[in-house]
Amino acid sequence: MSDPTRLTAAETAAKIASGELTAVAVTEAHLARIEAVDEKVHAFLHVDREGALAQARAVDEKRARGEKLGPLAGVPLALKDVFITAGIPTTCGSKILKGWIPPYDATLTKRLKDADVVILGKTNMDEFAMGSSTENSAYGPTGNPWDLTRIPGGSGGGSSAALASFQAPLAIGTDTGGSIRQPAAVTGTVGVKPTYGGVSRYGLVAFSSSLDQGGPCARTVLDAALLHEVIAGHDPLDSTSIEAPVPPVVAAARNGDVKGMRIGVVKEFGGEGYQAGVMQRFNEAVELLRELGAEVTEISCPSFDKALAAYYLIAPSECSSNLARFDAMRYGLRVADDGTRSAEEVTALTRAEGFGPEVKRRIMLGTYALSSGYYDAYYGSAQKVRTLIKRDFERAFGQVDVLVSPTTPTTAFPIGERVDDPMAMYLADLCTIPSNLAGNAALSLPCGLAPEDGLPVGLQIIAPAMADDRLYQVGAAVEAAYTARWGHPLLEEAPSL
Ligand code: GLN
Repeated sequence: MSDPTRLTAAETAAKIASGELTAVAVTEAHLARIEAVDEKVHAFLHVDREGALAQARAVDEKRARGEKLGPLAGVPLALKDVFITAGIPTTCGSKILKGWIPPYDATLTKRLKDADVVILGKTNMDEFAMGSSTENSAYGPTGNPWDLTRIPGGSGGGSSAALASFQAPLAIGTDTGGSIRQPAAVTGTVGVKPTYGGVSRYGLVAFSSSLDQGGPCARTVLDAALLHEVIAGHDPLDSTSIEAPVPPVVAAARNGDVKGMRIGVVKEFGGEGYQAGVMQRFNEAVELLRELGAEVTEISCPSFDKALAAYYLIAPSECSSNLARFDAMRYGLRVADDGTRSAEEVTALTRAEGFGPEVKRRIMLGTYALSSGYYDAYYGSAQKVRTLIKRDFERAFGQVDVLVSPTTPTTAFPIGERVDDPMAMYLADLCTIPSNLAGNAALSLPCGLAPEDGLPVGLQIIAPAMADDRLYQVGAAVEAAYTARWGHPLLEEAPSL
């Protein structure tokens, strides 16, 4: 029989539903794969072997009783360690939360469990989701399965690496500035940032609340859509959750078609600073869209040039406020509490020890930008840029149905290369950040390997808010045509570990 770790989530669910495979056998195969390769990859911070097997057994029992199974029942998933999980450690990749065990589940966690998805464990990430390489994790970096000396993207590098090394067919990420799409691009996987408010943030440890968005990660567009429908939908516990039906993403992924669609190529994303092989593969993907019957035009979004600067004021400002809750009193780490020090001293010493350099940099930057006298100059200006970016999108979506761009300017860079150069690191999210600032939906899917280094390239598709289904419609069309013509990069060409 074929190896269950090589199946898509849709195939796995069908085989479990028909009785060809048991959920326990599928889970055991993935746990064995984790055992065999994760020492090298380091995608997981915590593997919940017992919990996963118990969930799988419950699925098999349900089936034996003749109960109807959900579309992803029994399918294993790797959960980014920023969503809280009752009884299972949640660290956010930070030392300050080492050993913290949440008392309840995030809404997303609960929805996965209610859908009988098998949660294998928690994945590595940049500390509090700040970074583009997973090197900012307090627990050591994750390797890119295509080349273990390179980064798997960030902040959700554990989730993307788990998919690309066949340790799980599904994963969850969060995208504040690109942390779902950029890891997807550099590992040859699919990642979707839903419309802001489309997936509940209740129990998602906050980095930048007006930007953070959880979303699905998978190896195929259809699998991402199936997961999207499981996790999305209104949640009364999240005041920014959208009270409207989830766009029909699964139907769109099943009917991939771009005939007559108007597709805009973002003029500002390309040219200088972009790797030649990335642009080559991107241009081929655009050509493919044309051949499939799309009307392709170039669209200028002049304010996108300022997006990175605005993001690096807004995100740190919000993070400086959100991370104030890690005060050594309520969660996780507490140092120097020897009875001689004041609470303020214990808090300061704990934060000095518990936070890594990037998190400290952002807290300081954010505190500065929000301080009186600077607020209007920095935070206020950044919010104005945010409005300009929204207007660029509105104008663009008046002319086209979706926008496309490369997801990242380069392929996966070597571990260590940018870690001491924050500006170079920040550039990894140049093309992804505008959608976070505007709150609309975007997806990354593989569009081949760059000729110069043989590493995956991502195609970004951007849709208006609440039109997430368009991402899947276009993504599925590209995936099918691409695979028919050139083969699937990850499924057919990924190097063995
Ligand atoms: N790389 C970006 C940052 O460091 C985005 C992170 C994210 O999306 N969580 O902030």
